[in-house]
Amino acid sequence: MPTSQSPAPYPIGTPGTPWTAADKSTWLARQRIQRSYTEDVVAPLERTLPAQAELFQYGVLDYTRLGRPAYPLHAVRSRDWHPDRPVVVVTGGVHGYETSGVQGALQWLANEFDRHAGTVNLLVLPCISPWGYETINRWNPDALDPNRQFKPTSPAAEAALAMACVTATCARVDLHVDLHETTDTDNSEFGPAKAARDGKAFDPHAIPDGFYLVGDTERPEPDFQRALIDAVRRVTHIAENDERGRLLGETPQQPGVINYPKRTLGLCGGMTGARFVTTTEVYPDSPTASPAQCNEAQAVTVGAAIDYLLRA
Ligand SMILES: [Zn+2]
Repeated sequence: MPTSQSPAPYPIGTPGTPWTAADKSTWLARQRIQRSYTEDVVAPLERTLPAQAELFQYGVLDYTRLGRPAYPLHAVRSRDWHPDRPVVVVTGGVHGYETSGVQGALQWLANEFDRHAGTVNLLVLPCISPWGYETINRWNPDALDPNRQFKPTSPAAEAALAMACVTATCARVDLHVDLHETTDTDNSEFGPAKAARDGKAFDPHAIPDGFYLVGDTERPEPDFQRALIDAVRRVTHIAENDERGRLLGETPQQPGVINYPKRTLGLCGGMTGARFVTTTEVYPDSPTASPAQCNEAQAVTVGAAIDYLLRA
């Protein structure tokens, strides 16, 4: 039985029992569009497309079966694709609510794409989950986290279409940077919702105050991760370990870096097989990090990762 100290149960479903289809419908009915993918993502892409970039549509994310919109999915690639050059993939907005993952990708595109386009082939998917962006959501309308669905025959169209785009565009990938945030709403909303959906108890972790990276257990490349942390340290603070010496419940591989088995977990960072792969985690709720700093941290990571790739 819950004690008086227990947090209130998530307001959908029956505690201890996974959600039914009706529970998922109840959840979906509570989600509201709060911002515009067309205005915030598509319009800037069209307005500030760099000279060396080609904008293209890689699919339609169609939720009309649920009474929700259909979204054209946009990506940007190098206009001149040279088979002999290294290939760099940048992904943002797998979690649509993680704003700087989308805005940081757009900022990097507008300011830095052309500078790198002469040395590497670039593919940028700046907003993989536009419904999540508009509703400030971690999940898609089917109550699935797209960032656990990067696997064959994925049930999440966000992941399936992004994987198909990468496969169609890139014969191989040498570097993949996936842009994310860790937010207070992970503990106040999304974590409790996930536990309720799965019929489990919610097990919160302290939200790290500051920037950190998630490398791949199978391809950790610690020197690469360290170079990125050192670059970001110049624009915002790096997350410290908690009092148990952990970062989001994990033992760090080095300061500001934890590793996950990305492919096993179905994470976006596992989809390319690139030797160099990292996932950024920016903390936008920090009292000492502005939205501009969060976007800058994302953009700096991409630039530092390409610089490292070219030195490797
Ligand atoms: Zn995320």
